[in-house]
Amino acid sequence: MPILLPGRREHGAAPLLARALAEIGVRPVLAPQPCPPEEAVRLIAEEGVTYLAALPSQLRALLELSPAAPAWPPALDRALLSGEPVDDGLRHAAAKAGIEIFAHYGLTETCFGGGVECGAHQGYHLREADLPVEVIDPLSGGSLADGLEGEVMVSTLARRGRPLLRYRTGDMGRMLPGPCACGSPLRTLGPVAGRIVTDGGPSRCSLRKREQRTRHDRPAQDARPLAFGRQARRIGHHRHP
Ligand SMILES: [Zn+2]
Repeated sequence: MPILLPGRREHGAAPLLARALAEIGVRPVLAPQPCPPEEAVRLIAEEGVTYLAALPSQLRALLELSPAAPAWPPALDRALLSGEPVDDGLRHAAAKAGIEIFAHYGLTETCFGGGVECGAHQGYHLREADLPVEVIDPLSGGSLADGLEGEVMVSTLARRGRPLLRYRTGDMGRMLPGPCACGSPLRTLGPVAGRIVTDGGPSRCSLRKREQRTRHDRPAQDARPLAFGRQARRIGHHRHP
């Protein structure tokens, strides 16, 4: 499994993923950094692998090389994407190349873990044995029922030192009601719509859409007001883009 994800320090995302894969019998291939798209395609083809772990922008760069090219790795049919939003255009381009995308949701604050899509592609199945997830009204702080959109809040109970308790991520999402079509008993966090930003006062906030955000782009400044209760409460945490 080639890993193009950035971060080669000892406890970076890529080495941690490589270690976890090795523990379940999967042979990880840490791509060099930087790894131009042509080099990545050659590596994937040489290793004869079927599964890729990468940033969405990295997969997009690979697809722009044209899957019809003779050097395109024929066995590659799945990709675990993390670190950036996955838009419909990328999903479509990947599907045309015969690649099924499994998007991952996680935070640096949770040591990158969180949830991952299943074959139903409705949202992220959560690993709540380690990371309980709630969705709250970002203004009142009150819990929201499944299906209602609000701020995603996580706890890192398995951490040995300084666990986070009910940490407000600033991400906007909703818990999908009912069982998943795949049959998994794990709860599913729906697609994360964007980032919650304060908007001129303690009783107002808005949504900054996630679409088109990558590590190299500024986020779209398309903010829409959110309809929440009147209780004024400033949002406590924001991860800056
Ligand atoms: Zn599922």
